Amino acid sequence: MRSLDGFACGKLAALEGARPRRTPVVTVRGSIFAERAGRHLLSFSCNDYLNLGRHLEVIKAAVAAAQHYGADASRLVTDNHPLYDELESRLARLKGAAAACVFGSGYLANAGIIPALVGATVCRYRHCDVAHAEALLAANRAKHQRALIATDGVFSMDGDLAPLSDLSTLAQRFGAWLLADDAHGLGVIGGGRGSSFTNGTAVDVPLQMGTLSKAVGAYGGYLCAP
Ligand SMILES: *Cc1c(COP(=O)(O)O)cnc(C)c1O
Repeated sequence: MRSLDGFACGKLAALEGARPRRTPVVTVRGSIFAERAGRHLLSFSCNDYLNLGRHLEVIKAAVAAAQHYGADASRLVTDNHPLYDELESRLARLKGAAAACVFGSGYLANAGIIPALVGATVCRYRHCDVAHAEALLAANRAKHQRALIATDGVFSMDGDLAPLSDLSTLAQRFGAWLLADDAHGLGVIGGGRGSSFTNGTAVDVPLQMGTLSKAVGAYGGYLCAP
């Protein structure tokens, strides 16, 4: 057995022992219903909250764009397509930010943003617990050059909101940067602008990250920032 095979088998066996291995199941979604293994199911997990992924105008626009532009490779390879600029300036405007940068997915956005800004020491604070976050910052902030407070804006399981206003004040007090992952806020709350806009005024969240794969009904991720 080659060493790569040996490594892979060992890793899969360990995963198998820890919990059931995740195997993709073919699921075909049409609006709010999904077909899986011959069963007709109501989907509560797609996160396409506004059903824009199946909206006729959206589909028509996507077809027209494909006919007009065709397909391209990555931005790294084929340079800056004008549609990127248009998308980014619209996102920045929506979020009240100076600029935006889109990524291949929300996951890739987080995987790109966080290591670009800060190092590897992670301190976890209790769910929405600003006092605990404050205690951790008080104990650890001085040991590090830079600090990032990262939170979801809307938490996906219960739909509860992060205390963004208090976290923003805390971040400013400790010279930390606040990153809100608004995967479940965009298009849903704050007049569609997301979790920083729920109280009528914009909370100062310098790093507003999100996905285009949920309420926007497409695929991709973004960061809006100063
Ligand atoms: C879904 C989700 C992402 C990832 O977005 P994708 O575009 O699906 O990769 C990131 N953060 C949170 C909180 C999410 O719910």
